Amino acid sequence: MVDLVDRAQEAERLNTEDALTSLRLRVEAEKPAEKCKGCGGEIGEARRKAMPQAGRCIDCEEARERQRKLFYRRSGAR
Ligand SMILES: [Zn+2]
Repeated sequence: MVDLVDRAQEAERLNTEDALTSLRLRVEAEKPAEKCKGCGGEIGEARRKAMPQAGRCIDCEEARERQRKLFYRRSGAR
């Protein structure tokens, strides 16, 4: 049960983060973020041009994706 609550809270947190991020990005749509929201590191220019809405460096984006997949796989398993 505690596990379920944890998962729900995690999902909630991710959703809120996403909502805030897209909101912020919509406001700043004109200028793609130069610093990663995850680690504060610089986002490569190529990536900024390819995905101006990303807001994260490749490392953080991949880590995030992995976490997400892990989360959904786990919650779908039972
Ligand atoms: Zn990063």
